[in-house]
Amino acid sequence: MNAYDQDELVAKFSAYAPHVDTAILRKAYAYSIQAHGDQERASGERYFSHCMSVASSLVDWKLDLPTICAGLLHDVLEDTPVNRETMRAEFGEEITRLVLGVTKLEHLEYSSRDDIQAENWRKMLLATAQDIRVIVIKLADRLHNMQTLGYLPPEKQQRIAHETISLYAPLAHRLGMFQLKGRLEDLAFQRLWPQEFAELEAKVTAMLATREATLRRFKESVERALADSGIPHRILSRSKSLYSIYGKMRRQNKSFEEIQDALGVRVITDTLANCYALLGIVHTQYKPVAGSFTDYISIPKMNLYQSLHTTVMGPGGELVEIQIRTEEMHRTAEYGIAAHWRYKTGEHAKDAHLEEKLNWLRQWIEWLQDLKSPREFLDSLKTDLELNQVFVFTPAGEVKALPAGATPLDFAFAVHTEVGMACVGAQVNNKMVKLDYQLKSGDICKILTKRGSVPKKDWLIFVKTARARSKIRHFLREKGIVA
Ligand code: MN
Repeated sequence: MNAYDQDELVAKFSAYAPHVDTAILRKAYAYSIQAHGDQERASGERYFSHCMSVASSLVDWKLDLPTICAGLLHDVLEDTPVNRETMRAEFGEEITRLVLGVTKLEHLEYSSRDDIQAENWRKMLLATAQDIRVIVIKLADRLHNMQTLGYLPPEKQQRIAHETISLYAPLAHRLGMFQLKGRLEDLAFQRLWPQEFAELEAKVTAMLATREATLRRFKESVERALADSGIPHRILSRSKSLYSIYGKMRRQNKSFEEIQDALGVRVITDTLANCYALLGIVHTQYKPVAGSFTDYISIPKMNLYQSLHTTVMGPGGELVEIQIRTEEMHRTAEYGIAAHWRYKTGEHAKDAHLEEKLNWLRQWIEWLQDLKSPREFLDSLKTDLELNQVFVFTPAGEVKALPAGATPLDFAFAVHTEVGMACVGAQVNNKMVKLDYQLKSGDICKILTKRGSVPKKDWLIFVKTARARSKIRHFLREKGIVA
């Protein structure tokens, strides 16, 4: 956790916005200190340290001046006697509006009940549709609260961690803030499933130690292959967040050792054309894994993410995922929406294309207003978070993540092997469906079972997950029904 002091904060800001007058930043700093007085956090630290930590994140993400001031002041209306009129008189309309937006979000209570939760989400997004910077401040606030979670009572820790993993991390993802998403997920993961976290962390550390040499050799090999091309580039190592590895293990029912793309490199270059040129060189040098190539440049993800992805076989036979992108795509990939508030040197105009780039988000939020039920809302939230994945609910509200095209039978085996084995039918959203029905995100699936019922041979035709397939096959083989 890196909170800057006042001078560092101003210096970091001026480094990317050299011609902006920072007087108001110093004013917000002094004002927030004074307003919070000797209030304390649960950790015993001064309350103001929290405001400083939020502002520091916002500077790291290179946000604009009003946002950083609002970060310093974000809890002033909520927790001190200062009212909005006073704040408006001191700091003007824009900063006050941002702080009011964040304050409004404070009042949204998390609920484990799906319908209430969905309604809260909808309120949150509609409230902030006018200004996405409110959400970005809220995310910085959540990051610091997660970093200091250990000081709260255990029950509260669980609730906040759960809320973070199910609401805030997906939102960061939607805004394209992948780095933040990974940090939020790992902080929550550690809190919710400490044992699994510790085991995985140990494995990843061990893997990095053994594979570091492999990865270094591969990087050098790529470097040599690209050196003659004359194309400017730099090569970075890439590590996945622990939670995303864990999620993949669970979704694909694989062990850590079977997860291939925990290892990867990124190649960053200058122009779009050079991305494809570098891809050509990589593919002539290393054998690509069939079906692994995805072009997120010509077809960007909803959250603005762009890159070429390909998995190749390295010199030692190891599989390595390579991502190729321009510097600008890289910034967007790391910081997402926030990257577009960057100041251009010498002026303090926003990114000229920002409005255009934000349009998809606005349209999506506007469209939310027309949705009738919380269920529809949850659908929309979860769709295209991960295009090749669907989220399906048990009647009790538990979520199962399955590969796209998964059927109720896959769902049944994901719930429990015995449920899958004895499955005789399924209801989706209270209607009977066939067992080869394709589940959609947001579906509520109920599996009907009958004691003594056994798997059928034709199940193998349509099940999607490796887990279901292997359990069914194992049973049929034992009965001599299949070879
Ligand atoms: Mn706060």
